[in-house]
Amino acid sequence: MHEIAGNCHMHTPYSDGIKWHQEIAEDAIRAGLDFIIVTDHNVWVDGVERYYENEQGKVLLLVGEEVHDMRRNPQVNHFLVYGAEKEMCRYAPDPQRLIEETRLTGGHGFLAHPFDPPLPAFHEPDYPWLDWQVEGFTGLEIWNYMSEFKGHIKGKLSAVQVALRPEKYIMGPDVQVLAKWDELLAQGKRIAAVGNSDAHGQTFSLGPVRRVLFPYEFLFRAVNTHLLIPRPLNGDVAHDKRLILDGLGRGRGWVAYDMPHATKGFRFTGQGLNKGVMGDDVKLDAGATLQVKAPTACHIRLIRHGQVVAEAKNDRTLTHIPVEPGAYRVECYLPYLGKNRGWIFSNPIYLR
Ligand SMILES: [Zn+2]
Ligand SMILES: [Zn+2]
Repeated sequence: MHEIAGNCHMHTPYSDGIKWHQEIAEDAIRAGLDFIIVTDHNVWVDGVERYYENEQGKVLLLVGEEVHDMRRNPQVNHFLVYGAEKEMCRYAPDPQRLIEETRLTGGHGFLAHPFDPPLPAFHEPDYPWLDWQVEGFTGLEIWNYMSEFKGHIKGKLSAVQVALRPEKYIMGPDVQVLAKWDELLAQGKRIAAVGNSDAHGQTFSLGPVRRVLFPYEFLFRAVNTHLLIPRPLNGDVAHDKRLILDGLGRGRGWVAYDMPHATKGFRFTGQGLNKGVMGDDVKLDAGATLQVKAPTACHIRLIRHGQVVAEAKNDRTLTHIPVEPGAYRVECYLPYLGKNRGWIFSNPIYLR
C-alpha cells in the first residue's frame, strides 16, 4: 500500500475563490500534497486537469464540483461531486436525483459540511445538509476547516481573534457529524469520509488593513484526506486519477489534521479470514484482530456504531479482538497549543 495526501474541496474565481488553478497548485506543492480536487460552486471546469510542476515538486490537480440549488433560499444541501466528468448542477433541485446521476457517471458524491453553523454577527446563514432521507451517497465530509472556523465566531470581535489565530480554536469534526456517521454505519451502510479545507483565500478588511486570512497553503497544511493506494502514482494522469478516485470512493484512508503533527504513517488494519485496511470488508472469525498504529503517541479510540470499544492513552498502538460484526473506526487526539485536539479520523473497517 502506498500513502498519498490530498485536499478535495476548494474554490477558484470560477465561483468565489481568489486564486486560479495554477496558483493553487503551487500552494499545494509547497504544502507537500500529492493531489488536490478543485470544486467550484455549480460549475465543472474542463481543461485544467493535469500535473502542475515546479522546482519543488509536482501535484495532480483534478476537477470536481460543489453542487447546490441556487434557487433554494437559504442555499442548503451542498454536495461534492468527484469524477463525474460532466456538469451536474442541473440536478441540484432534487438531491436524490443528483446522487443517482452522480453514481450513474461512475463518480462519487459526498455531503459537504453537513452541520454547517450560521454566522449571525455577519448575517451569514448556515449551509447544512437538510434532506437526510436521501440514499446512496458515497460519504460525508466529516471535517471542513472553514465551516468549523465559522462555528467558533461568537461576534465581530471574536471573529478577529479567531481569524488571526485559528489554530488556537480548531478542535475537530462537529460532534453532530460524527454521531450521524455512526448512526448510518450502524444501519449497515457503507459511508466513506473526507476532510477538507474549503479554501477560498478569504480576505478580511479592518479599516484600511486588508489581508488574506486563510491562504490556500496554510489550509493545505491543516485538514486533509490521506489515502492508501495499491500501486504508486506514476505520473500518468488517467492512471493516477483512477487510483485517487477509487481510494476516495472506497474510503481507503483517513481524515487528517496535519498541522499539530504529520499523520503520515498512520495505519488501521484488520485481520480475520482475510486482511484489510480502512474501507475494506474483513470476514470476522474467532481469531480476528484490529490494529492501530499512530505516527506518535496519542489518545486512540476505537469506535463501533458510536460506542468506544477500546482505547489507549499516550500510546502509538492499539490492538483489539472484536467479537461483533459492524463498522469499526478510529479517532486519535493529540495535545496541541494547550488542548487535546482531534488529529486523525479513520474510515471504517467493515467486519462482516
Ligand atoms: Zn459549501
Ligand atoms: Zn465550498
